[in-house]
Amino acid sequence: MARYIGPVCRLCRREKNKLFLKGDRCYSAKCAIEKKKGPPGVALPRKKNMSEFGQQLREKQKVKRHYGLLEKQFRLYFEKCARMEGDTGALLLNTLEKRLDNVVYRLGFASSRSASRQLVRHNNILVNGKRVNIPSTQVRLNDQIALTPDMKENAAVVASLQSKASSGTKPWLDLNPETKVGSVLKEPAREDVDIEIEENLIVELYSR
Ligand code: SF4
Repeated sequence: MARYIGPVCRLCRREKNKLFLKGDRCYSAKCAIEKKKGPPGVALPRKKNMSEFGQQLREKQKVKRHYGLLEKQFRLYFEKCARMEGDTGALLLNTLEKRLDNVVYRLGFASSRSASRQLVRHNNILVNGKRVNIPSTQVRLNDQIALTPDMKENAAVVASLQSKASSGTKPWLDLNPETKVGSVLKEPAREDVDIEIEENLIVELYSR
């Protein structure tokens, strides 16, 4: 599946928001959002007010980039959630949170979503004891997510687990630090999403 491979800090600067795409660097003074104010590229005179469409578009781009998706994938997620019963915006965020690459990141096995996607793609993740190499796989209640035995001592994985140990995992997930096995305890809640999102604007955008 295609993915964005350009400089990711530009994406945060474009959205004027931290999207947490670079692991530990995002929490340090080296974060580009902290160092450089304003969007990337040549500075143009600022427009007074963003149009309604502009606000909706930026909100969609923010979420899409946070989860590392391209337009077509994101649109398919939206269309799937729009067919489900309930609040489409909330369902969209819930579905994105339950992607396997996001769960691997949330458990601390990788320092960023792109690194967690690589772990999954390279057959290093077990779901209920079976290798799964599709990052978009949806985890379910009581699923057990583990590293393959050879990856448990991998230096990057160990460093990521140590770095995330202080902040802990999200309440909907549990991680056994001894066995390095995670499990899904419940559905992710709205507040488990790290960035500020007005998901209703995304629904309005796609409903035009
Ligand atoms: Fe770069 Fe992370 Fe800061 Fe975004 S939050 S600008 S990805 S360091």
